[in-house]
Amino acid sequence: MIVVMRTDASEEQIEAVAAKIRELGFRDRAIRGVERTVVCVLGQVYPELMDELMVLDGVETVLRVSKPYKLASREVHPMDTVVRVGGLEIGAGRVVVMAGQCSVDTEEFTMATARAVKEAGAHVLRGGAFKPRTSPHTFEGHGKKGLELLAKAKAETGLPIITEVLDPRDVELVAEMADILQIGSRNGQNFALLKEVGRTNKPVLLKRGMWATVEEWLLAAEHIMSQGNHNVILCERGIRTFETATRFTFDVNAIPWVKRESHLPVIADPSHGTGRWYLVEPVALAAIAAGADGLLIEVHVSPDHALSDGAQSLTPQNFARLMERLRVLCQALGRPLHPPVAQAAARGDGQPL
Ligand code: PEP
Ligand code: MN
Repeated sequence: MIVVMRTDASEEQIEAVAAKIRELGFRDRAIRGVERTVVCVLGQVYPELMDELMVLDGVETVLRVSKPYKLASREVHPMDTVVRVGGLEIGAGRVVVMAGQCSVDTEEFTMATARAVKEAGAHVLRGGAFKPRTSPHTFEGHGKKGLELLAKAKAETGLPIITEVLDPRDVELVAEMADILQIGSRNGQNFALLKEVGRTNKPVLLKRGMWATVEEWLLAAEHIMSQGNHNVILCERGIRTFETATRFTFDVNAIPWVKRESHLPVIADPSHGTGRWYLVEPVALAAIAAGADGLLIEVHVSPDHALSDGAQSLTPQNFARLMERLRVLCQALGRPLHPPVAQAAARGDGQPL
């Protein structure tokens, strides 16, 4: 961090800034230019320090030169992180697809959807058992019973499971069954929950808060990683803008930006990012072209009967078509689709499922 002094700052003011920096436990170094002086703050700075220094007399501005996120940053960890889920490798250059219902509903629909996404080539089955809903008067998920249905679908298909956890008190229960814990957009700054999943050893898919800047999103990852769990997968799922034609605005810019800044894998969720089933395929392909390591897609065998997000859920036919186009795109990009899970496990290039 550097403190830029005003051109008319006095020697006393410069010395007072340097003294404050030392008082706060940092080292200081003044660089005297022809017109003005800047004072460097040396040490592990924190974001609030900017405000603490900005108010001092003679200060023009305070600038950050290193990143506020450390563990998630490429500055500290230049190589890509690969998150392993059984035989699956997320972030290793092959595209991974997670697909399934928004919320787990009936056994019949859940099993049929699981079979359909497996058949089309998905690698991970998604399904919400604990659902964050804007209104408390809508379906909030089957909870533990939903987890049991997902376990049944996993037993039959062999697909690992991703499911959301909403409450720090449920982390242990959800982590017993899930292969990947999902942190939803609404919990992107629920620091108690982020820390709690950070104390598990399960991979965590961290959705971007719908109001979060990319920097706040990486700082949320930092909260998880600060507790020792470095198996974090980032997920762009669209942000709030003035646009109302779509449910959210999928921020394709965020994908190459985050891939450049961070070593963590990045997944795209064009289902929530658009809110319309007919926009899911083009935006999914755009996200992969922009460098995403994979996709999270809502699919339902009967979207009209889905208990949440039917309007953005693909039918199995439309999902199979997306997978076909994705296969072609991935080949063209030189980042092929990850082989099917069972095949990957059989080849022994990961831990057994
Ligand atoms: C979901 O994946 O079903 C979900 C609720 O997503 P988000 O947190 O992105 O809204
Ligand atoms: Mn949903």
